[in-house]
Amino acid sequence: MTKDKTKIALVTGASRGLGKNTGLTLARKGIGIIVTYHSNHEEAKNVVSSIEEIGGTAVALQLDTSNTKNFDGFVGQLKQSLNDKWQTEHFDFLVNNAGIGVYASFADTTEDDFDRLMNIHVKGVFFLTQKLLPLINDGGRIVNISSGLARFALPGYAAYAAMKGAIEVLTRYMAKELGQRQIAVNVVAPGAIETDFADGAVRDNPEINNFIASQTALGRVGLPDDIGGAIASLLSEENRWVNAQRIEVSGGMFL
Ligand code: NDP
Repeated sequence: MTKDKTKIALVTGASRGLGKNTGLTLARKGIGIIVTYHSNHEEAKNVVSSIEEIGGTAVALQLDTSNTKNFDGFVGQLKQSLNDKWQTEHFDFLVNNAGIGVYASFADTTEDDFDRLMNIHVKGVFFLTQKLLPLINDGGRIVNISSGLARFALPGYAAYAAMKGAIEVLTRYMAKELGQRQIAVNVVAPGAIETDFADGAVRDNPEINNFIASQTALGRVGLPDDIGGAIASLLSEENRWVNAQRIEVSGGMFL
């Protein structure tokens, strides 16, 4: 990474929620943003416009992180965009954020639910990162996104939380193996945050919202801004020596 060049971050699932907030926060720090979206092209274009309004640079690319067969095509588009927008072949920061929630008890979780979660939260992160490695600058950084649910157990999240547990272990292995390229890899585990996630339950259901607030040391539910800032700070030069860590960003949930 050269000091005088614009740094570039690829944030998966940046059309909404935590990814969008992360993209906007990084853009305010002068970082170019590759916004990936799954189905919400309009939302992704709006994020790009918002970044441009604050003087930043961004592109939006479609990507289904659950479909490894598309990754070669995505990498081709990414290379083209890096060249067109920033006249470079590489980027610096990868935030593996895209995700979905499936709420089902252990007894009722179907194999389809399990596979859907596995493909997005584990297999997709594993093989997308693998494909992107040649494009990430030496000295770059990777942030994976886990969940508080990998530390504490709430009924209804057995499969989802197990996937997040896997990403925490994978983070340590990535850090171990990518260290030789000076790439630091950490995992951020948000607590419950008000987004569209799980049909917006944390945001829209007062009972759930109040319950979480009552179990959080700082006394409220998290907001996207609580997470985007934490991720951006982890990617800052000041945090360059933080590596292979799980950082929970939950306001102190279920202590
Ligand atoms: P949102 O539902 O608000 O946003 C999800 C994002 O992921 C969207 O940009 C969506 O794209 C994208 N996405 C969904 N499916 C796919 C797919 N198959 N391929 C590529 N992109 C996809 O969720 P959050 O922002 O809340 O969640 C972001 C991450 O944070 C997830 O990994 C989630 O597990 C994790 N998390 C969330 C918590 C919360 O309480 N909100 C707590 C702990 C962790 P599109 O807009 O095109 O649909």
